[in-house]
Amino acid sequence: MHVLITGGAGFIGSHLSQALLDRGDRVSIVDDLSTGSMRNIAHLKGRDGFSYVIDTVRNERLMAEMVDEADVVFHLAAAVGVRLIVEHPVHTIETNISGTEVVLRLAAKKNKVVLVTSSSEVYGKAEAVPFREDGDVVFGATSRARWSYACSKAIDEFLALAYHKERATPTVVVRLFNTVGPRQTGQYGMVVPTFVRQALAGEPITVFGDGKQSRCFSHVADVVSALQALVAEPKAYGRVFNVGSSEEVTIWQLAQRVKERTESKSPIVYVPYDQAYEAGFEDMRRRLPDTSRIRETVGWTATKSLDDVLEDVIAFERAQD
Ligand code: UDP
Repeated sequence: MHVLITGGAGFIGSHLSQALLDRGDRVSIVDDLSTGSMRNIAHLKGRDGFSYVIDTVRNERLMAEMVDEADVVFHLAAAVGVRLIVEHPVHTIETNISGTEVVLRLAAKKNKVVLVTSSSEVYGKAEAVPFREDGDVVFGATSRARWSYACSKAIDEFLALAYHKERATPTVVVRLFNTVGPRQTGQYGMVVPTFVRQALAGEPITVFGDGKQSRCFSHVADVVSALQALVAEPKAYGRVFNVGSSEEVTIWQLAQRVKERTESKSPIVYVPYDQAYEAGFEDMRRRLPDTSRIRETVGWTATKSLDDVLEDVIAFERAQD
């Protein structure tokens, strides 16, 4: 199979590229290196069947050619990371909406299978945990930049579902919950690599807010196998799937766990949200997926625990020194 991965030099995209090459697929990637990096794909360059183009997915002429050559498109290119979103909302909205428009329009023209990555952020401030795909989404005011990401991803979802409905395009939407693993950068605010780096450097571990907010962290290897399974299952087309782990942890407990596992002497400190992000920043208190739909459709469940995730991230960060 020939696969096109947008955002292939990103954290998840680079792991997906590797898994597909290992399986014997041809893999082409397009990435503008805005949050991805050549380092992420350095080990793939020169491998049989691998090619890459450094450009934006909004370059329609290029994308037309790339989509044409592919059997399946994984659309991962997006502006991600809470810090990036809060600091650059224009870039976030334009990239996430226009990029997905281009990819879906071209995939529809050629009737290619296309997987669109959305986010658990789409649930917004909904409180009905665990989150089900057919549950309501609840966003904050438009004056809070954070919600621009959720809204842009919600539009992507509407569009993917609309193409399936109106044009019978084989689209699949995945809502990724917090995904973690080697090569993820803490630069854009992701908490696990941030805590691990702080702990290894002996710097304060910065818990934002009261630390009682919780998340479920899944290992990127599990996420990659979910994406592969979904594109291969026609029953998944035209539907939305949560992809995440069900092991819930508060951010304070996470800080403790990272400190213990790295044997760090770092103090754990609390940082108010308005200092960490911006005045009036709104966080989600709990974010827990209901994964029965993906389990029933393709038999997928997360296999790796938070300890597995931390072990891999700590080993990766230690090797960076
Ligand atoms: N967080 C934190 N310290 C950090 C970075 C993040 O306490 O240095 C918190 C953040 O406020 C959120 C959680 O960790 O409650 C997860 O943040 P992340 O940005 O990784 O993902 P999110 O779930 O917010 O998209």
